[in-house]
Amino acid sequence: MSIKNFGEFHLIQEIKKSLPKSLPSGILGIGDDCAVVPKSKTESYVVTSDLLIENVHFIKSKISAYDLGLKSLAVNLSDIAAMGAKPQFIFVSIALPNETEIEWVKSFYQGLGDLGQKHHAYILGGDTTRSKNDLMLSLTVIGEAESKNIKLRSHAQDGDILCVTGFLGDSAAGLKYILENTPTTDEDLDEIISAHHAPRPHVLEGQWLAQHKGVHAMMDVSDGLASDIQRIMESSDCGACIELNKIPLSQTLKSYSKLYSWDALKLATSGSEDYCLLLSVDQNSYESLALQFQKKFNSPLYSIGHICSKPKKVQWLLNGTPVSNSTPGFDHFAKL
Ligand code: ADP
Ligand code: MG
Repeated sequence: MSIKNFGEFHLIQEIKKSLPKSLPSGILGIGDDCAVVPKSKTESYVVTSDLLIENVHFIKSKISAYDLGLKSLAVNLSDIAAMGAKPQFIFVSIALPNETEIEWVKSFYQGLGDLGQKHHAYILGGDTTRSKNDLMLSLTVIGEAESKNIKLRSHAQDGDILCVTGFLGDSAAGLKYILENTPTTDEDLDEIISAHHAPRPHVLEGQWLAQHKGVHAMMDVSDGLASDIQRIMESSDCGACIELNKIPLSQTLKSYSKLYSWDALKLATSGSEDYCLLLSVDQNSYESLALQFQKKFNSPLYSIGHICSKPKKVQWLLNGTPVSNSTPGFDHFAKL
């Protein structure tokens, strides 16, 4: 069977099956946002790697080198945030076509370096090679966390409140706009375009949430809510119930959806690359945690539904009534 009909998730499962089963004790390998490797009795390293390919993840003429540098790091920092860890070290590998301008490369590193500096993470190395056609950018980021605070996808429990730390759908709307329209200087549009080109990883939110025992499972929203919730359900062997009208949508997304006849909820559930956090919180802790979160970040911890033990699927509700939302999130191979 070709990988086209197999899907990214199942392909990774197959890769995992073909590898030796046992890992040294205490190490967590394939399956979460980061691998976890014990550092000392109380601390662990977390490690993540992400690859961006020209014309798959970005169109070079549509994004500045600076933003692409920033985004290449942001997508990795988002996985570090998902574990509740603090980013520390960065490795950058690039494959460049011969005609790439040196100024482009410098600007790419400027964007990457600026975001790294903001989070006190340092670039320690990488690799450089020539590419025949497309640009390829691969980053590996190492972070650190207190082992007892690390949040996994597998820790969701029956009755947990499902939450997200930011708006959903802006990035997908930004991409839609970039692909369908000509550039504009409209400042409101800037908001959704930068949500796509220069996402803000929720690193501080992740570290803060990790310190709270009431937070059970956590991951970042990278492939879209509809797809990412499946990862929590598979890892935690549970189901989920999501209220579509509780999904936080930005005012900008709402108004442009009206203007361009976009389906805002579809962008929010099936669009990808929001890079906020999706977490499950003990039902008895949610209220107090949400109050503290609002105080700390001046932004709500949005509750969008809950975890259930059965049925082991997502139930989408609109004003309490079940509806079908069959569009899956972003899957690299299904879209080939
Ligand atoms: P994310 O969207 O959070 O970056 P992915 O869906 O890319 O996560 O990956 C899920 C898990 O599979 C991670 O643990 C990742 O390290 C692992 N993984 C992905 N691709 C490969 C691969 N080609 N070989 C081994 N592990 C992989
Ligand atoms: Mg992730």
